[in-house]
Amino acid sequence: MRIHNTLTGRVEDFEPLDGTHVRMYTCGPTVYNFAHIGNFRAYIFEDILRRHLQWSGYEVTQVMNLTDVDDKTIRSSREAGVSLGEYTRKYTDAFFEDLDILNIERAEHYPAATHHVPDMIRLVEQVLEHGCAYPSDDGSVYFDVGKFEGYGRLANLDMAGLRAGARVAQDEYDKENVADFALWKAWDENDGDVAWDSPWGKGRPGWHIECSAMSMKYLGESFDLHTGGIDNMFPHHENEIAQSEAATGRTFVKYWMHCGYLVVDGRKMSKSLGNFYTLRDIVAKGYTGREVRYVLLGAHYRQPLNFTFKALDAARSSLKRLDEFRTRLFDLAVGEIPADAPAPDWAQAGVRGFKAALDDDLNMPEALGSVFDMVHAGNKAMDAGEIDPAGAGAALRMLDDADAVLGILNRAEEKPDEEAEGLLTRREAARTAKDWAEADRIRDQLASLGWQVHDTPEGPRLKRG
Ligand code: AMP
Ligand code: ZN
Repeated sequence: MRIHNTLTGRVEDFEPLDGTHVRMYTCGPTVYNFAHIGNFRAYIFEDILRRHLQWSGYEVTQVMNLTDVDDKTIRSSREAGVSLGEYTRKYTDAFFEDLDILNIERAEHYPAATHHVPDMIRLVEQVLEHGCAYPSDDGSVYFDVGKFEGYGRLANLDMAGLRAGARVAQDEYDKENVADFALWKAWDENDGDVAWDSPWGKGRPGWHIECSAMSMKYLGESFDLHTGGIDNMFPHHENEIAQSEAATGRTFVKYWMHCGYLVVDGRKMSKSLGNFYTLRDIVAKGYTGREVRYVLLGAHYRQPLNFTFKALDAARSSLKRLDEFRTRLFDLAVGEIPADAPAPDWAQAGVRGFKAALDDDLNMPEALGSVFDMVHAGNKAMDAGEIDPAGAGAALRMLDDADAVLGILNRAEEKPDEEAEGLLTRREAARTAKDWAEADRIRDQLASLGWQVHDTPEGPRLKRG
């Protein structure tokens, strides 16, 4: 497998540090609001990467952090007049619901920053011991970018214009303002009751140190992959490298991967521009999580992806075509299909092309092209009556196997899972209690998970669709 490494600017062979075990860290959500679908573009790229690694035989340990204390969460919780914990819990819960709706596989660990402050303090102490940081008069601790050789390598910064002694207290800033950044922030009145004791007095961690401390705690001082959207590259990831390597003296991460933006009319989808949609907004317009997933995974991950409702409509027809093809194979594959039944050539070629494209830096447009070539050739062969049940069954197996990476196929014959059954029971209870609004809400939730409720004479049934 080959991947583009932001650190070198090249597509490289992927060779994990530890045999077939891949350790991967993905910057998770700042839980100060509902995530928008631009954020989910990043999480879907990471989901495809994770699934493709597993499909290729690697064992993956993925850590995704939850940023539940930073400039934004503190400001928003204070504006709302609730405690930080209460405020972020709501958006953390919503985030996990959205992951399910988008069929994003769970990572192995979701550490929350507020549960790891002692680890962060220890890491700041280590950076201080190595002479790459200094406390300021107000009780903050700053990283000295001039002391770390190699600062700016990831983001290709020109360090010549750096003003000695300049400092930046905010978590986010642009390349023009590169300066010493805060590892630890002394408490001030804007922080309200959010504070931890530290050797430098009352305060809180900077955003960057959170990810360094949590990634190394779960994955070790050196690990394979670190990912995020391209906006994370500077200053967040640049600073993570500097402080981690200053603390340990070891290479922090071997491969850095960044996805391009989801854009609207040529501009990055973001909270600050106000041009964003949450997943909830889109589901309320009648689209499913599967359709959103299809749109978000369809482009090459490093290219900008323009979001439109037309693209969602196109996703609906592409998925219909895939569903119909799958159902056709399924209907033909009657009886016991021997495990070693050979798949027709077109199925083998399709899956081979799919894998080769993904092995080439996750080239998804080409990978999907191979899948649709397979649909075209398979339909033609079935029209001509050339496929017997064993051939159809073997092709079906290959298609479903490839879906371990895509996560988009509709298994019409699939039985509802416990979660869907539970929701159906709750919908019935709401209807019995004549709580129509709640019953409708649950029906919409089921629809977003890909289940339609059909009221039959024997009672309600769930069907894929
Ligand atoms: P945040 O919650 O702002 O820390 O962002 C969470 C993730 O979403 C990060 O990996 C960001 O890089 C990513 N992200 C934010 N906006 C976009 C966008 N418009 N397109 C793609 N990724 C994004
Ligand atoms: Zn991070």
